Amino acid sequence: MTSNRRTFAIISHPDAGKTTLTEKLLLQGGAIHLAGQVKARGAARRARSDWMKIEQQRGISVTSSVMTFERDGITFNLLDTPGHEDFSEDTYRTLTAVDSAIMVIDAAKGIEPQTRKLFEVCRLRSVPIITFVNKVDREGRSPFDTLDEVADALALDVCPMAWPVGLGGEFQGVLDFATGEIARPEGDSREFLGKRDKEPLPANIADEVELAQGGYPSFDLEAYRNGDLTPVYFGSALKNFGVAELINAIATFAPPPRPQPSSAGTIDPSNKEVTGFIFKVQANMDPMHRDRIAFMRLVSGTFKRGMKLTPSGSGKPVAIHSPILFFAQDREIADTAEPGDIIGIPNHGTLRVGDTLSETNKVRFTGLPNFAPEILRRVALKDPTKTKQLRKALDDLSEEGVIQVFYPEIGSAWIVGVVGQLQLEVLISRLEAEYKVEAGLEAAPFDTARWVKGLDAALKNFADFNMSNLAKDRDGDPVFLARSAWDVSYQQEKNPDLVFSATKER
Ligand code: GDP
Repeated sequence: MTSNRRTFAIISHPDAGKTTLTEKLLLQGGAIHLAGQVKARGAARRARSDWMKIEQQRGISVTSSVMTFERDGITFNLLDTPGHEDFSEDTYRTLTAVDSAIMVIDAAKGIEPQTRKLFEVCRLRSVPIITFVNKVDREGRSPFDTLDEVADALALDVCPMAWPVGLGGEFQGVLDFATGEIARPEGDSREFLGKRDKEPLPANIADEVELAQGGYPSFDLEAYRNGDLTPVYFGSALKNFGVAELINAIATFAPPPRPQPSSAGTIDPSNKEVTGFIFKVQANMDPMHRDRIAFMRLVSGTFKRGMKLTPSGSGKPVAIHSPILFFAQDREIADTAEPGDIIGIPNHGTLRVGDTLSETNKVRFTGLPNFAPEILRRVALKDPTKTKQLRKALDDLSEEGVIQVFYPEIGSAWIVGVVGQLQLEVLISRLEAEYKVEAGLEAAPFDTARWVKGLDAALKNFADFNMSNLAKDRDGDPVFLARSAWDVSYQQEKNPDLVFSATKER
C-alpha cells in the first residue's frame, strides 16, 4: 500500500509570500492542527522563557512548527521553517525531516539569497522541489526570465506546468497546462472564485504558451524525485490562484515517506519496527522546569501511544505516554501515527537533536548534519566563578541545537558558532534566564569552522602546525577554526590526506 502522507516544507526568501501561501494551503485543505500553538498546560502556559519574548518582540518565529491538513484522502504535514533572514540551524534541520519542498519565488525578484541557501540544503539531500512563482497578479518579470534564472542559478531543469495569462494590470488568470483551463479573477477583489474556462487565448499569449510548452524539458517524475528537475507553477497566493493546482501537484507527484539511510542500511517505511529521529527540540515552556518538546519524524512502523522507545543517546527506554500528534482530528491526544508523521514528545532534556528512537535500539539514522557555523564568537563570562555553570549551559544548549560549541586546544575562551545572528541573542537570554549566567560575546579571530577527518598520523601532523586553530566540538571531534574561506582551501590543498567538511553527521 502506498502511503497517503506527504511531508514537506516551504523554502523562500522573506516576503516572497510563504505565510500567505501557507494560509491558503491550510484553508483549502481542512486544517487540522496548528502545532505552532502547541499547548502547555496551566502555569507552564503563562511562564514563557526570554527567548519566546524575543520571538514576540521581533514578530518572528524562532522555531519551526508543524501544520497538518487533509484533502482527497491525502494527509499533508507541512513543516514550517522560520521565514526571517536570521535563520538558524533549526531551519536546516527541519529540511532533514521532509520528503519534498515547495520553493516560493517572488515573480518580480526571482531567486533571492535565502532561497538559494535553503535550496542548497535540499540539494545536499536530493529533496525534490516544486517551484511556485508567486505574485503574478503584480507587475513582474517575464515568466521566461524567471524560468531561465531558476535553471541557471540552481543548475536545475525547469518544466512549466502552468502559465500566467498576462501580468500585473493585464493579468487575466492562470492557464493550467494539464487541463487547458484558465482560472480567471472574479468579483470586486478579483480573486479566484472557483470558475475555470477554456476560452481561446489572445494571439500573443497563445504564441507565448506554445513557446513555453515547447521550449523546456517535459515533466519527468523520476527526474523530479531525484531532485534534477523542478515543475514550475505560477500563481498568486494572495488572490488564491494556482494554489489548488499546487496541492494537487504535491498529492500526485511529491514522494510519500522516503526510506531513510541508517547505520543498519536503508530503513523502509513499511518496516514493522517503530523508528524515528529527533530533528528539533523546542524549549518553549517554563524555563525553570526544563520542559522540552522533541520533534520526532516517524520513519517506520505504526506508533502507538504509550509505547516504549529507546533513544540512541541515553540508551534507556522511555514510555511515550503523552505524545503530541499533530494530525489529531479533534486536538485531543491521538493514539497512533504513521511514517511521515511528526510526533511531539515532552521530555526533560533526555532527547537530543539527532537521536534515533527505536524499539530495539539497533538502528542509527545518519544524515542529520551539523552545519559549519557562519558566525563565531568568544564567550566572555562576567563572573569567573561561574565557569562550571557556563560549561553545563553550553553543553546543554548545543545538545538542543541552539548553538554549536567549540573548546579550543589552546586558551580558555570557549567559542560558540551559529548560522544566524538571532541564535546568539537566544543564547545570551537563555544563559541568564535558565542558568543564571551573565555572559557577553566578543569577536573571535575566526570566520568559519570545518570538521577535520583523517588518519591519526595525518591529523597529528596537521595539529602540530595548527594547534592555535584547533578545537574540539561537543562530542570531542576535532574542528579547524579558520580565519577565512581562503584559509580552508589553503589547508585542504596542503593536507590532501585530510577531509575538511562543512557538515558533520551525528
Ligand atoms: P513571507 O515573508 O514569505 O511569509 O511573506 P508574506 O506571506 O508575509 O507576504 C509578504 C507580502 O507580500 C505581504 O504584504 C503579502 O500580502 C504580499 N503577497 C503575498 N502573496 C502575494 C501575491 O500573490 N500577490 C500580491 N500582490 N501580494 C502578495
